[in-house]
Amino acid sequence: MRLPIIAANWKMHKTVKDSLQFAEEFIEMLGEDHKGIEIVICPPFTALYLLGKRLRGTGIEAGAQDVFWEEWGAYTGEVSPGMILETGAKYVIIGHSERRHILGEGDTAVNRKVKRALASGLVPIMCVGETLAEREEGRAVSVVRRQLEEGLKGVELLRPHLVIAYEPVWAIGTGVNASPQDAQEMSRLIRDELGGLFGVEVAQEMRILYGGSVNPGNIGGFVAQPDIDGALVGGASLEARSLADIVKQTE
Ligand code: PGA
Repeated sequence: MRLPIIAANWKMHKTVKDSLQFAEEFIEMLGEDHKGIEIVICPPFTALYLLGKRLRGTGIEAGAQDVFWEEWGAYTGEVSPGMILETGAKYVIIGHSERRHILGEGDTAVNRKVKRALASGLVPIMCVGETLAEREEGRAVSVVRRQLEEGLKGVELLRPHLVIAYEPVWAIGTGVNASPQDAQEMSRLIRDELGGLFGVEVAQEMRILYGGSVNPGNIGGFVAQPDIDGALVGGASLEARSLADIVKQTE
């Protein structure tokens, strides 16, 4: 049995004050009983330490939205795995499509980040997904396969300490979600690919999330699919009520 994950990706939203206020509301709404699910909140770096501190003992985890592949040095603007771990965060999103497409991050950088994060003890949530043009050209499968193979090159996993998020770029922040059937089809393919890389047993234990315009109204259709183990949620994770609803429908 795979424990589902709902991961909130706040992107560049919420100050420290807003993040802490969200935490108060969300903890209250969620109550004590959420053992059947892992909940991860990924705020901007500025709020990570204090939010993580507030979440300690609640069973809700904090995560970062990115990480660099070196531990120290002259890398202006970057944050290392050790620095993230020091905040108490356990997860890190790597290779989000906004970083790939707006900031030009390629598979090689994603691969370095995944390897370093794993070696440090962080759990990467590695994002893959095709653009609309790639889908229309019939290349969705080959693009996702390449992102997996390149992003996970040289990665050895004996335990399922890695999460994959399938996020079709055209579904992110657009209000146009993929159909649960299409998302399932791609998730199955991803699991097969992971089986080839890490062995079927490990792949069966790995969590695959869907991301792209997930909301309380459509989450049920995704998590009912056999290969979808939760979601990476952007816009709908910014309101405590909406995130709590998504969590309730995933448990
Ligand atoms: P969205 O974003 O839920 O706002 O579409 C998802 C993501 O980018 O992770």
